[in-house]
Amino acid sequence: MMYITKRMIEIRNLLARVGQSSSVTLPSIVVIGSQSSGKSSVLEAIVGHEFLPKGSNMITRRPIELTLINDPQAKVDYGEFPDLGLSKVTDFTMIQKTLTELNQSVPESQCVSDDPIRLTIHSPRVPDLSLIDLPGYIQVAGENQPRELKRKISELCDRYIRGPNIILAISAADTDLANSTALQASRRVDPRGERTIGVITKMDLVEPEKGATILNDKQYPLRLGYVGVISKVPTQTGLFRRETGNLLAGINRNEKAFFNSYPSQFGPDSGASTGTITLRKKLMHVLEQQMSSKLHETTEAIQRELEETTYQFKVQYNEQPLSAESYLAASLDDFKHQFHNFARSFGRAQLQDLLKNALDQKVLDQLAARYWNKPIEDLSPAPHELDSIADLPKADPKSPYWHRQLDTACSSLTRLGVGRIAATVASNAVQANIDKLLDKSAFAKHPSARQVVSEAAATVLADRAYATSDGIEISLKPYKFDPDIQPNEWAQGKEHVVGVLQGELEQCQSALKSVENSVGGRKRLREVMNFVDKARKGEILIEGDHPSGAGGFSAALLARGREAVFLRDRADIINMRIMAAKSRKCKSPENKYYCPEVFLDAVATKLSQTAVLFLNVEMLNDFYTRFPREVETKLHEHMAGGGLDRFAREDPKIRRHLDLVNRKELLELVLTKIQDLHRFDSAGNAKVDNT
Ligand code: GDP
Repeated sequence: MMYITKRMIEIRNLLARVGQSSSVTLPSIVVIGSQSSGKSSVLEAIVGHEFLPKGSNMITRRPIELTLINDPQAKVDYGEFPDLGLSKVTDFTMIQKTLTELNQSVPESQCVSDDPIRLTIHSPRVPDLSLIDLPGYIQVAGENQPRELKRKISELCDRYIRGPNIILAISAADTDLANSTALQASRRVDPRGERTIGVITKMDLVEPEKGATILNDKQYPLRLGYVGVISKVPTQTGLFRRETGNLLAGINRNEKAFFNSYPSQFGPDSGASTGTITLRKKLMHVLEQQMSSKLHETTEAIQRELEETTYQFKVQYNEQPLSAESYLAASLDDFKHQFHNFARSFGRAQLQDLLKNALDQKVLDQLAARYWNKPIEDLSPAPHELDSIADLPKADPKSPYWHRQLDTACSSLTRLGVGRIAATVASNAVQANIDKLLDKSAFAKHPSARQVVSEAAATVLADRAYATSDGIEISLKPYKFDPDIQPNEWAQGKEHVVGVLQGELEQCQSALKSVENSVGGRKRLREVMNFVDKARKGEILIEGDHPSGAGGFSAALLARGREAVFLRDRADIINMRIMAAKSRKCKSPENKYYCPEVFLDAVATKLSQTAVLFLNVEMLNDFYTRFPREVETKLHEHMAGGGLDRFAREDPKIRRHLDLVNRKELLELVLTKIQDLHRFDSAGNAKVDNT
């Protein structure tokens, strides 16, 4: 049995997964020959299928690393391209098409590529063999072939025909052996002919005498000898059927018919070795022997590589184990830990602040709409004329006008959709915090997983948003009609709203400052504001739309002037309202008609407090329980089907660490396997089937 070859092929496949190219090379059979020497036909005869790219203009541009696996269990023959993730391809025309495409993917300017195509063929009818098909040597560079092609192909072939590989040198019987490019190349690297097998194709095209002379060649002696074959696909139909994978059987019949007709030239006593079956056995035998003789050397090379890897592992990672699973688990644990910290720090008080803030803006909008934007005289004298707090209007608390104003403002506030606002404010705040946590977590380096976690948060939040918002609306119903404000609530509102108004005032002033800067200074702004004021009072008459400006000011400048006047008036009103809110008039809830700011603020506080009770239970606590579970489920789905490994490898640091761990584990496995093989070999069990 081909025990060693089979195991060594397994080992080679493991080494191929070691990652960065391994220095360990196991012997393969490298097939070389000039174009049209019959190289493809020989390989296909060995495999028993037509599968290599064909066509008059088809130059092989990439080496094909062909692994044949004797698989007694295989019901049908099939091929696999491990690098493409293509497995169990039973249609050999598909294999041929794929090889043609891979071959054509090398741009013509590059001529040839030394990036091999790996193809494995499983069949109960093939022996365990490792063959490398190289681009055919070109005798005469064709007109439309780049001049470099010939040189590049030679260089590529030379790299592969080094030891410990066995060279299968293909030459056609109808060309002079002295001119065989394959033999010339092999002689350069194997001058004593120790690891070259000569294959003479097209034996049917020369006289049997001449054919026999070539096979017994003494001029170019090879220790492993020559084998004569006729590997042209037989054209007769009948017994031979391609689709059954019986190509070799047909060829064998053909060859037997031919060689048996000339017993004195090719018979058992002639010393000539003929037939594809003979060639196949020879390949198995020679490869097994070569593998066996290289066992020691290969083991040492693997040991050295493992030692180096173990050393790197110790130096770079302090022998810290790592797998994609453990990396994900640690990243998730860490994220959950940060999440729990956040959950502890973000509760009712924080929600209350956020919601109240949002409602403060709504209160300001109501005030502007119902009071401040009204003709100023409705509530107070023109702000410029206001000299002291004593000048505040004496609004009559009994007047239905002021009642209506405040009732409308208050009712607008309570019917604003506080439920929706509250749910949105809470969702946005939680989502923003989760996204911030993600940015600081290991997931920051994994955009798609980060998105999965972020979307999990959004899903859980959205799930509760409607119900929460409805619930809040129901709980706010009592406030929709004349909310009752207690003295302590009033006092708090008074204090708070002054702060809010001061904030608004600062914004107004800074906006005014930036208008000032944009027009080139205070003096210029004052000039244009004066002009706008006069125009407003009708002291100056401006006709039409004055697109090109007026009063010596450009249209743009006038627009800035009007903006500044608006901001100044707004600041004056706010200033005045701050004074009003602070005044004694605004001391108690009875005077609410004088102090809409305080009243609306107190109402807003009531609304937000009630909403937050609901938000906390219905949304936040629900989120804190469900989110971690949702993350686990969603990440699990995301990682299915190779996603876990892809995820871990997105981070270059983790990828390097994983590569090294992986390399070490594989080398350890390879070493155990090869040591087993030693025991087998030294027990003398490696009997080679060379019958
Ligand atoms: P490659 O270019 O070296 O791969 O050569 P091919 O395998 O494509 O063969 C070139 C040509 O020679 C094809 O037309 C084959 O059919 C033909 N051929 C290959 N082997 C034999 C053979 O043993 N006898 C005869 N008569 N023709 C052959």
